[in-house]
Amino acid sequence: MMLLTPEQQEEIDQLRSNPQLTLRAVAPGMEEHLYSAKPVLDHGFVRVIDYMGDDAAICQAARVSYGKGTKSVQNDAGLIRYLMRHWHSTPFEMCEIKLHVKLPVFVARQWIRHRTANVNEYSARYSILDREFYIPEPDSLAAQSVVNNQGRGQVLQGAEAARVLEILKSDSNRAYDNYESMISDDGQDGLARELARMNLPANIYTQWYWKVDLHNLFHFLRLRADSHAQYEIRVYAEAICEMVRDWVPAAYGAFEDYRLGGAVLSAKSVECLKRMLAGEPVTQEDSGMSKGEWREFEAVIGR
Ligand SMILES: Cc1cc2nc3c(=O)[nH]c(=O)nc-3n(C[C@H](O)[C@H](O)[C@H](O)COP(=O)(O)OP(=O)(O)OC[C@H]3O[C@@H](n4cnc5c(N)ncnc54)[C@H](O)[C@@H]3O)c2cc1C
Repeated sequence: MMLLTPEQQEEIDQLRSNPQLTLRAVAPGMEEHLYSAKPVLDHGFVRVIDYMGDDAAICQAARVSYGKGTKSVQNDAGLIRYLMRHWHSTPFEMCEIKLHVKLPVFVARQWIRHRTANVNEYSARYSILDREFYIPEPDSLAAQSVVNNQGRGQVLQGAEAARVLEILKSDSNRAYDNYESMISDDGQDGLARELARMNLPANIYTQWYWKVDLHNLFHFLRLRADSHAQYEIRVYAEAICEMVRDWVPAAYGAFEDYRLGGAVLSAKSVECLKRMLAGEPVTQEDSGMSKGEWREFEAVIGR
């Protein structure tokens, strides 16, 4: 697997070897990530191109202060937790991140639904796409789930796994061979790139720059680093979580506590919980909740 070409790696090494003096806020944890590519799936990556702000910038905006806005690390962490707990979101919008992401087209289709970001994608009208397709690892080749229409069940085994893998590989390669032959521009016979690309499968890789503020990034991560998200986008979200943890440790800690690990309870759930704590036996039938809601409620309270 070649993640980056030697030329691309050289460019990154050069950028990383040329630190600049700046008066701007710098997050030391994020400086470690800057420019480097973090591998995701078989040919994909996420890398930080730029960022603005740090934990102190969130507090500075919340306090609308003249200076750094920092009282003490402990005070700041407390304020950030307060803001997160009470959905006071605009101070988090003061931090921004710009990522370069390489991802399969079917993952990009899910990702692009998050409208509160700025995107610029590699042009397959202008450039020729590389022969790079996402082929799942054997343990990600699973059958349709029998309990969840939007999910996976058992991992495929033996001959069935081999059969499916072979189809994925040969179809991808055949489609790419035809793509290449259609765009061959011998004389005037070749088809335009913008048309030839239409027979390429959705597991081909694309790339984009994606810029988003921290509030909307947390919203993205809450949905996509979640167990309900498809594995192939979840691994990107998890890679980004690691970067954000190093960038804004206090904000990420609050996000992990209140959003990723937290749960939202309906008024009915709160009522049931109060009855349970008072020692009253409560069942789904007299809870006022549907079977699905009750199942989810029981999972939250660990029954
Ligand atoms: C597990 C999972 C399954 C999904 N399944 C499907 C599916 O089957 N089919 C499908 O089509 N999508 C599906 N989605 C996509 C989902 O419905 C959202 O489109 C996606 O998660 C983006 O969320 P968002 O709109 O909140 O994000 P963003 O676009 O980033 O918006 C953030 C918030 O800004 C506000 N906002 C942004 N733009 C507007 C606007 N134009 N008008 C009003 N408010 C706006 C909203 O409050 C929104 O919540 C799924 C998502 C997940 C996580």
